[in-house]
Amino acid sequence: MKHVVVTGAAGFLGSHLVKSLIDQGHQVTGIDNLSTGVSKNLQEVANSPLFFFVEADVTLPDSLDFLVDQPVDEVYHLASPASPKFYQADSIGTIWVNTRGTYHLLELARTKGAKFLYSSTSEAYGDPEVHPQSENYRGNVNTWGPRACYDEAKRLGEVFCYEYYTKHSVAVKVARIFNTYSSGLRNDDGRVISNFVTQALTGQDITVYGDGSQTRSFCYVDDNIRGLQQLMAVDRANGEIINIGNPTEYSVLEVARLVKELTQSDSNLVFLPLPEDDPKVRRPVIDKAREILNWEPKIGLEEGLKLTIDHYRAMLQETS
Ligand code: NAD
Ligand code: UDP
Repeated sequence: MKHVVVTGAAGFLGSHLVKSLIDQGHQVTGIDNLSTGVSKNLQEVANSPLFFFVEADVTLPDSLDFLVDQPVDEVYHLASPASPKFYQADSIGTIWVNTRGTYHLLELARTKGAKFLYSSTSEAYGDPEVHPQSENYRGNVNTWGPRACYDEAKRLGEVFCYEYYTKHSVAVKVARIFNTYSSGLRNDDGRVISNFVTQALTGQDITVYGDGSQTRSFCYVDDNIRGLQQLMAVDRANGEIINIGNPTEYSVLEVARLVKELTQSDSNLVFLPLPEDDPKVRRPVIDKAREILNWEPKIGLEEGLKLTIDHYRAMLQETS
């Protein structure tokens, strides 16, 4: 049995990871300041003897002191808002959690001799001029715009990881995560899948930003969590940055039409202004994940959307 520390435990990916680790019989300490995450996400494991939850802000220097006497085997640093709506509302906090927070968690890993996984993002590639994106593409990020607080903070988080790997030999792994979804996303999270599915199921207009020709590649959460755990497990991935995402690309308009069709919704598609610096294309090259981790996603968008729609439908019925 391992002792695993997960930051961002009450968030979308964190809560799925915690459940998976507990199912595998590990002892898990989840840390979260409940800024974008909610305790409800952890309801299933709240009474598990294997789970311990601490409400704390990992940007604060003493936030990890409670672990001083405990051995720690693995650290997953997932804490950070991920939706543009939330990271732009707390831009300075987003910078701190990915820089100061990453530093505190790397120090924890160093002092405990623990393995460390950092959840970076496809946003590290910015509005890419190379398509699709492999890990050696250095990106096209605007430092002076509404997405910079997230994109640049993640890039600096990666630099901290590099330094702790090279200077302190911490077994560091960096996941560049591409758009991931499931019903676990909050209805009000503002990301495209949660917006479209909620809008379609409640008969509201489906809000396509721009002309909807911009593309994304969507990974179902179960595939993502399996990828993160493989990344943590494989020693050859130490000191590596690896894309974790689904390489099938869709335009946002195609997603809107697919959601409308699968929900059999009468909602209208409406076109709203494209947010500033919204990347035009995004698709991961996952050769490295295939080769080093023996990982690739198994769940296509249509199948994942059906699962997501069923869950949202049930959730909306419960609350109505
Ligand atoms: P989320 O917002 O659902 O979860 C993030 C969690 O971190 C929340 O529970 C929040 O309360 C917590 N948190 C934020 N600041 C904190 C702080 N200072 N101290 C302690 N806890 C804090 O987001 P998510 O989708 O689960 O994303 C998890 C991680 O994966 C993030 O680092 C994100 O950048 C990365 N990521 C996610 C995606 C995606 O598509 N979901 C894509 C790329 C990268
Ligand atoms: N988007 C959209 N309508 C929405 C929400 C998002 O058209 O209601 C678009 C957004 O402009 C972007 C894509 O969908 O081009 C993915 O947005 P999301 O916020 O989910 O993630 P990110 O931009 O970080 O990839």
